[in-house]
Amino acid sequence: MRDAPIHRTCPVCARSDSQLLWQKGELHLVRCGDCGMIYANPIPVAMASGEFYDAAGTDYYLSPAKLEGDYADVRFEREIRLFRKHCPRGSVLDVGCSSGAFLFQLKKHWPGDYEILGTDVSGPPLDYAESRGVPVVRGDFLEQDFGGQTFNAITLWAVIEHLAEPKRFLEKAHTLLKPGGLCFVLVPNFKSLAVRLLGARYRYVYEQHLNYFTAQTLTAICAPKFETVETHFKHFNPVVIWQDWRGGGREVSNSERGELLKQTTALKQKPWLQPVKLLYGLTEKTLATFGLADNVVVIFRKR
Ligand SMILES: [Zn+2]
Repeated sequence: MRDAPIHRTCPVCARSDSQLLWQKGELHLVRCGDCGMIYANPIPVAMASGEFYDAAGTDYYLSPAKLEGDYADVRFEREIRLFRKHCPRGSVLDVGCSSGAFLFQLKKHWPGDYEILGTDVSGPPLDYAESRGVPVVRGDFLEQDFGGQTFNAITLWAVIEHLAEPKRFLEKAHTLLKPGGLCFVLVPNFKSLAVRLLGARYRYVYEQHLNYFTAQTLTAICAPKFETVETHFKHFNPVVIWQDWRGGGREVSNSERGELLKQTTALKQKPWLQPVKLLYGLTEKTLATFGLADNVVVIFRKR
């Protein structure tokens, strides 16, 4: 018998007054009547515990397509640029580091400037991270004490949308930061063009995503512990919009996601596509200006 699903209060304001917004298969998205946060409720037990990711670890996060995409120079280029601008040196903890690609790139570009450490709940990708020279701490972030170490920066790239209790992670990050330390948080943007065009048909409206942030709700969840330094809107994937538009909301397998990531990354590296890249860059910039890009990144400073 399956365990009964877990009922949640609003991950931002903790109230329980919410209304159903969308239903997609088993997934129910509700909107908080108080702060406007969109979140999945109720959720399956495996999603709440992180058990899902340990099981998914081997087949998706270590598929050759996913690794190749993640370890390509262009994969984290926006995040790296932003990170470098705000944190030119120091100790960095990447929470939800998966196969360690972000930290690997950071160390590759500026070997002397950073002390890196990754952590994740999923075991097999961490083995891979270690094999590429990225030091890691294993297990539940909330349970780790990191030997009393504190950090100049903590990164959460596409992590807190997966968490049943994102606020506890952010509070934990706060305790691990040095005074004035920075927290970089990237999440999918619920006000993106893709969400506006596709609604629940968008592939990233799916069971792995428990929280659907906007720049406003992301700032709100961090506000008690952090002040906002900068907000950015990044990334745009017209191929995903096109495919989901045509697919009408069918489920996209993990291997398909990995394959697409690899293809998009390969395309970005082709010199003859320079004019297309230029046009693409212009589109991404325009969407970003209006807050319509796929992801929102906020840089927070510890209060
Ligand atoms: Zn709320």
